[in-house]
Amino acid sequence: MTEILNDTSDKIKKTANAIKKLRPSYSKILDFYEKIFTAQEKSAAKTEIEPTELSDDIVSIKAKEKFPLFSLSEFSVDVNSSRKLFKKICKIIIKSDNHMSSAAETIFAANENKKIDFNELYAALLHDDDTSFGKIAAKLKTDRDALAFITYNSIKPSLSMFAKSASKYLDKDNTWEKGYCPVCGNAPVISTFESDGKRFLTCCFCWHKWTVARLFCPFCENREAGALHYLFSEDEKEYRIDVCDRCNKYIKNVDTRIISRFVYLPLEQIATLHLDIMAKEKGFKSGVPLELQV
Ligand SMILES: [Zn+2]
Ligand SMILES: [Zn+2]
Repeated sequence: MTEILNDTSDKIKKTANAIKKLRPSYSKILDFYEKIFTAQEKSAAKTEIEPTELSDDIVSIKAKEKFPLFSLSEFSVDVNSSRKLFKKICKIIIKSDNHMSSAAETIFAANENKKIDFNELYAALLHDDDTSFGKIAAKLKTDRDALAFITYNSIKPSLSMFAKSASKYLDKDNTWEKGYCPVCGNAPVISTFESDGKRFLTCCFCWHKWTVARLFCPFCENREAGALHYLFSEDEKEYRIDVCDRCNKYIKNVDTRIISRFVYLPLEQIATLHLDIMAKEKGFKSGVPLELQV
């Protein structure tokens, strides 16, 4: 286990370094996220999730009606490993001296003084209960967005692990062919072309990956060739921005077939923020919910 873990941490570091060399303006932000992602990988190795059972009837109704398998409030979280990661992420933010550092100091101190009820905090996030989450931030006298960033990132290993275990219920013979995640119903954060030429979407919330048609807008299900385009730069053939004229939204696409280094999608998502700027300058909107955008 340790060997696998070191391997992933090592690969994240090497990938971040390779991207920093290509695009030095990303050095500071990648230094920061490399630490967050490494901490998440380490935490994942110690995270345990109770598998949730679904009956055959429920599974077949969900597949027929194209309902996601679970609502976010049904996701389980390993509170013990998540709260340790929460503390670690606070420390990373404080040391990184960024726009969240002062909030992270307040949150770290509140945690040290046992003022955070993690069951309540995680439930507020998973129930998408903005009022309760806002009240917790106000009670801790801290910035809501910084608290949401730390909270989400501390449960991300649990969410991914839950999604992985839930994916056993997905129909392997019939592709999902929808723009929302078959496990949790959220929008995709990034699109990829993989070795067999297939296109995949990756969920912005639980990071489950599912296959879709190459000519398809995940946000309005447009399949009309004339209304789907892409933007790209000759200097970065591995990336493109798929845009839809019908709903005016965009999604970034990584062609993993022409990247020789290790591909770690959360890093690719961060290291392509210039593409988000480019898409927004051309008048397109991101399809990722605002609170999950970087
Ligand atoms: Zn999902
Ligand atoms: Zn669209």
